[in-house]
Amino acid sequence: VLEVRGLRKTYGSGDRELTVLKEIDLQLAAGDTCAIIGPSGSGKTTLLGLCAGLDDASAGSVLLDGQAVEALSQDARAALRNRLVGFVFQNFQLIPTLTALENVLVPLELRGETGRRKDAEAILGDVGLSKRLGHYPLQLSGGEQQRVALARAFIHRPKILFADEPTGNLDAETSAPIVDMLFRLNREAGTALVLVTHDPGLAAKARRVIKMGAGTIISEEENGAL
Ligand code: ATP
Repeated sequence: VLEVRGLRKTYGSGDRELTVLKEIDLQLAAGDTCAIIGPSGSGKTTLLGLCAGLDDASAGSVLLDGQAVEALSQDARAALRNRLVGFVFQNFQLIPTLTALENVLVPLELRGETGRRKDAEAILGDVGLSKRLGHYPLQLSGGEQQRVALARAFIHRPKILFADEPTGNLDAETSAPIVDMLFRLNREAGTALVLVTHDPGLAAKARRVIKMGAGTIISEEENGAL
């Protein structure tokens, strides 16, 4: 479902040029699960954004479900993302002028699916926010915003879900059901997961663990059968 070849990303130019990713190759089969770990600044977030077609690489190619992202127009890329991809940002990126419920409905509206309010309510219930449907992001705690962001990322049952530190702002008690939900989505809907995390417990649940260091993949391990 994902194939990355020779991916390179450089920010800035001249004296300020900084190569953040060097020659990354990565393949992910449909329905597989993968954690990306590594020190702060090693390029994990950048890699995730490029894989999801949110940003342009300096060189190399990203294929999402067989389609080369860099060959698509911005509109075609957005359409591909709406169809295939869910994304949870490290800083959530909820729309401040929309309520929790309205934020979760956005991916469906982008797909022209209306009348799914009940589904959005149900998914917010699943993440423990049934009493926060009408709250705006600023009226929610960080952990609550994170759960809204997760609900928004999988309401449309994406083929692949990218999540940047999905448990980063959650305590152990709130993170356990969220992690269960991610892996249930994987098992039941076949959604492939790519999770950037500093949480060893979460990384241990993924089938593959990719370790990054200074812009390259330095090792890859497979966890035992789940
Ligand atoms: P963390 O675990 O702290 O989130 P990370 O491994 O996800 O780190 P990235 O966020 O991918 O790392 O950042 C990698 C490097 O790229 C950092 O040194 C960062 O300063 C730099 N960087 C990221 N985005 C930009 C940008 N838009 N412009 C310039 N430099 C950037």
